[in-house]
Amino acid sequence: MNVEIIFLGSGGGRWATITQKKPTGGFRIHTDKLKLHVDPGPGAIVRLNELKISPWKTNSLFISHCHPDHYNDGEILVEAITNGMTRRRGAFIGSLTAVKGFGDYEYVISKYHQSKLELVKALFPGEEVKVYDHIIRATHTKHGDPFGIGFRLKTIYGDIGYTSDTEFIPKLIDEFDGVRVLVANIVRKKNEKVRGHLCSNDVIDLINSMENKPELLIMNHMGVKMTNPISEAKYIESLTNVKTIPAKLGLRIELLKNKIVL
Ligand SMILES: [Zn+2]
Repeated sequence: MNVEIIFLGSGGGRWATITQKKPTGGFRIHTDKLKLHVDPGPGAIVRLNELKISPWKTNSLFISHCHPDHYNDGEILVEAITNGMTRRRGAFIGSLTAVKGFGDYEYVISKYHQSKLELVKALFPGEEVKVYDHIIRATHTKHGDPFGIGFRLKTIYGDIGYTSDTEFIPKLIDEFDGVRVLVANIVRKKNEKVRGHLCSNDVIDLINSMENKPELLIMNHMGVKMTNPISEAKYIESLTNVKTIPAKLGLRIELLKNKIVL
């Protein structure tokens, strides 16, 4: 049995994305059956090839909301999932906006690409879907895209939580309480609160409000103003007592029954 999280980058927000000062390929969750790509921003396909992770092995795609640092390479991944659009295969789970469009938000995975997937599902916060042998439950967000979702994914070695882009809202405390690994999109460093996103202090408040804190926090989707992620991770760790590491291109984390291997 194998549960692994692999990062194709660490960056997010418009400036990190445009300059690629931090790569924006999202991350993957690999288990025996599930090969899930989460939020493939610009460069995801380049980073996969660079890290020699076969894009063809992907069988599921999750897009949390309709901003390009989260969806840009999605259609290419659908082409990999479906063996170049020759086989009906795989799953695409996302926000209503990402899956069907809403108002000014248009389809980010075209109807043509969606037609070759076996499962296409828009989730609202609180809803669940079974993808291969795993249950994904959508969590709340407060962000520019009003339909954005994060998730909580159950694995045999504990739950993995992903905040996606959101402000700190009290609902997140319950939704992520007891996850083993929390991937949090922390765009700004301490004392730099910003609308629609988490800064370090928001994540500290979130974790310290939980009854069961995570074993590991991963800082993801960092903006250009997050100039020293390592010292920021130490700051968060010192105030939460939760091991904290910044994402980086190629970071691999393996969940085992009794420990997490970095
Ligand atoms: Zn966003």
